[in-house]
Amino acid sequence: MTALIGIGGVEKAFGPVTALAGIELEIRENEFFALLGPSGCGKTTLLRILAGFETPDRGRITLDGKDLIAIPPNRRPINMMFQSYALFPHMTVEGNVAYGLEMEGVRGAELKRRAAEALALVQLEGVAGRKPHLLSGGQRQRVALARALVKRPRLLLLDEPLAALDKKLRDQMRLELKRLQHGTGITFLIVTHDQEEALVMADRIALMDQGRIAQLGSPRALYEEPASRFVADFIGVTNLIEGRVAAQGFAADGLSRLLPAPPGVLAAGTPAALAIRPERIRVRPAAATASGQGLEGRIESIAYLGQDLILHVRVAGLVRPLVARLGTGLESLPDMTEGASVTCDWTAERARLLTN
Ligand code: ATP
Repeated sequence: MTALIGIGGVEKAFGPVTALAGIELEIRENEFFALLGPSGCGKTTLLRILAGFETPDRGRITLDGKDLIAIPPNRRPINMMFQSYALFPHMTVEGNVAYGLEMEGVRGAELKRRAAEALALVQLEGVAGRKPHLLSGGQRQRVALARALVKRPRLLLLDEPLAALDKKLRDQMRLELKRLQHGTGITFLIVTHDQEEALVMADRIALMDQGRIAQLGSPRALYEEPASRFVADFIGVTNLIEGRVAAQGFAADGLSRLLPAPPGVLAAGTPAALAIRPERIRVRPAAATASGQGLEGRIESIAYLGQDLILHVRVAGLVRPLVARLGTGLESLPDMTEGASVTCDWTAERARLLTN
């Protein structure tokens, strides 16, 4: 796949605050790319630099291999959809969508046709004559999207596009954005702090931490093969147990027995964290388990989430309770109650050892 955008050695500071500390990244043609990270990690700054609203202190940015930084924002084949939508209240939906094209001198039948096309893309044909205040939040967002798509940019920037929507609408719009990206072939770059959103929508994710890229890869790679404690934790709640690699397992701080860990990766004695996803922990009543099998503990709390039960299991010696997630639909669940004694275990291969 060809690179649409090349970002090399990009740095940006605001006074004493380093927003970007050397970003290297390629964004490919026709991909749905997510910049993910906690508040303040620099993702919006990077987006604004691509849009041309900020200039980097150092580094190169190219589009199709040509310098982008020298090109003013309105001449870049890049559009941005703002979180606030920023619709003109006095204009109709159609007027809002057509505005950018009109500014470029498009008129008459072509203007109408292209505005109608963009509205059809977001399934808003029926409300072309309405003013924004007569629309629902979801519809307003679609108008903003149509307006950003109407000029057929090479790159569409979306800054937390779903933040203002309620959960149901958000879930629906995730799929819709994905459909739009596939349908139009336009490269989408979304900024979000919501890991689930990035996992569901993106082809690739750059997870950022303090102005740097902590890990770049497919949703699956970030989920299955996190490169550090930060990534493992950010891409979904994970159990992180500190300790040392042992010849046959993992020696957790505060525990005398070894825990299952992937074999042969690191030398015995290496300080590490053992990362185990909550859904990978098997929990069984202690009475049903032979002694010495699994890690014994007591259920501290149970949260019922419909599809899942979240158990916090207190294990003597461990600093934090183990978090386990059991699917309620999969198999017959043992009767779990708070205070009950249970054993927890997991497959060694499905845990990860992290040294960063
Ligand atoms: P959020 O999700 O909260 O928007 P972010 O990951 O998008 O966070 P940025 O907005 O890029 O982060 O900000 C990165 C850092 O740069 C932060 O510490 C922020 O306070 C700082 N910063 C961003 N813009 C400016 C500015 N115009 N002036 C001063 N500091 C700024």
